[in-house]
Amino acid sequence: MNERGGSQVVNLLTFDIEDWYHANYDSVDLSVARAGESHFRANMDMLLQLCSDAGCKATFFVLGQIGEQHPETVRAIVQAGHEVASHGYGHQLAYKQSYAEFKADVKKSAEILQTLTGEKVWGYRAPSWSIVKRNHHYLEALEELGLQYDASIFPVKTFLYGIPDAPTEIHHPTVNGRQLDLLEVPMSVARIGSRNIGYSGGFYFRLLPTWLIKRVIRSGNAAGRHSIVYLHPRELDPSEQRLKLPLLESFIQYYNVGGTKQKLTEILRSFRFISIRQRLSAIAAFPDEKSGGQAD
Ligand SMILES: [Zn+2]
Repeated sequence: MNERGGSQVVNLLTFDIEDWYHANYDSVDLSVARAGESHFRANMDMLLQLCSDAGCKATFFVLGQIGEQHPETVRAIVQAGHEVASHGYGHQLAYKQSYAEFKADVKKSAEILQTLTGEKVWGYRAPSWSIVKRNHHYLEALEELGLQYDASIFPVKTFLYGIPDAPTEIHHPTVNGRQLDLLEVPMSVARIGSRNIGYSGGFYFRLLPTWLIKRVIRSGNAAGRHSIVYLHPRELDPSEQRLKLPLLESFIQYYNVGGTKQKLTEILRSFRFISIRQRLSAIAAFPDEKSGGQAD
């Protein structure tokens, strides 16, 4: 059933744009150069085609390193009318960086992306949801860099990440007693008993059946809540190279990558999706809206 006409609520489509080896498990050394051909460019073409076929716009959180290696792909994202935002430079965990290292990392990535696209970067998403309680004040660095929003907080409790009691709606976060101008766009969660769980991105998206994801999105939309979908190019490509990981990490990283393209296609057909920037432009006035050059 196509429910696009049934709700006024639009959902948010996001992708984290990185290569097959960008992951933050202890067994992965990001400084090691990776040999062999990656499917990165072909997978990006496929993602852009899926969005075009479904008439959806998305936010692409791109690594600065990817901007250096694949400048034409970053330009193609903007030319297709999508938003390019920052995923940091080299996929280092934010909570393992000092405040100064974090700020320099985001600044470097934003400068690379802005040079490529000619547009100001509005948003940031930390690698592996690595804004947690102990480095929550790093959000101030994003504001100091002139960014408009952060999308790094996952209000769940997992062994890898999460702030389980974080607000679940778009809001202005408070840091050191001061409410920031920066907006926080937390990842979508469903409430099951007293716990929040993810359902609409990454491992959760690959694990849960399509009908269930659709049901949760539909009931949220009926109550006025959007859902955010997030995926990585590698999650739609079962033939991409894989990291050698211990059993649990391998399960989390690769479960059902063979079925994810079809699942995403079905969900994009069923609901309306726009970029985070489009959504924020509709709910708030931004001082530099015009300088971004992207009319919504
Ligand atoms: Zn990432």
